[in-house]
Amino acid sequence: MIDSHAHLADEAFVPDLDAVLSRARAAGLEAILCVVDATDAEETARADRLAPRWDGIRTTAGVHPHRAGAFAARPDAAKDLVAARLAADPAARAIGEIGLDYHYDLAPRGVQRDVFAAQVALARETGRPVVIHTREADEDTMAILRREGGGCVRGVFHCFSGDRRLAEGAVELGFHVSFSGLLTFPKAWTIRDAAAAVPLERLLVETDAPYLAPVPHRGRRNEPAWLALTLQALAGLRGLDRLALEDRVRLNYRALVAP
Ligand SMILES: [Zn+2]
Ligand SMILES: [Zn+2]
Repeated sequence: MIDSHAHLADEAFVPDLDAVLSRARAAGLEAILCVVDATDAEETARADRLAPRWDGIRTTAGVHPHRAGAFAARPDAAKDLVAARLAADPAARAIGEIGLDYHYDLAPRGVQRDVFAAQVALARETGRPVVIHTREADEDTMAILRREGGGCVRGVFHCFSGDRRLAEGAVELGFHVSFSGLLTFPKAWTIRDAAAAVPLERLLVETDAPYLAPVPHRGRRNEPAWLALTLQALAGLRGLDRLALEDRVRLNYRALVAP
């Protein structure tokens, strides 16, 4: 199995990272894309120590929309920070998570848009894929990806929580769509409807650990070992054998994230 999005360098895993990693291996995880907040020096330092410990781990670097406020005066500084981090981290493969969050609105929307656009431009210039976080900002997210992506930026809409229309838009733009434990929540009808609409060759799964633990662990600290619950839910939804879906997801991940 491949977890295409987990915050393993988050402080939530500091006390028992070894145990988390060995449970992940025991559960059959082969690779994990560890998402790293480029603005957090402690997290980037933990990521530097983490990646050499397991050859299946690759990392990202990005400025999350929640952190965009610090770059209000100069959005391009976010781009410079991420570029420097990508250059310094031999395990770095993608730019993210980046995007827009109009649900929490932790930074002014205009600033979020500028910081997002600067990082999409970096993706275009470097050929790196992007990990997109978008919440209640469908139109603006798509507009910026179209405008700054120039038709060549690829990536994944992570922890998909939108509707079928957004999923179809992402696919049309050449993106993958990644589903999390949200898929297992009883009331997540809209997300399951979207998951049914994504072509097989664009599907990914993720834990977004330590967040969003799948049923029956809902509310607890999530970890990669629980990815199987989400994979199983997606396989059921698509009428597929779990192992067949696992193979498909592996190919999809390899197509997006360089070895
Ligand atoms: Zn996110
Ligand atoms: Zn995340």
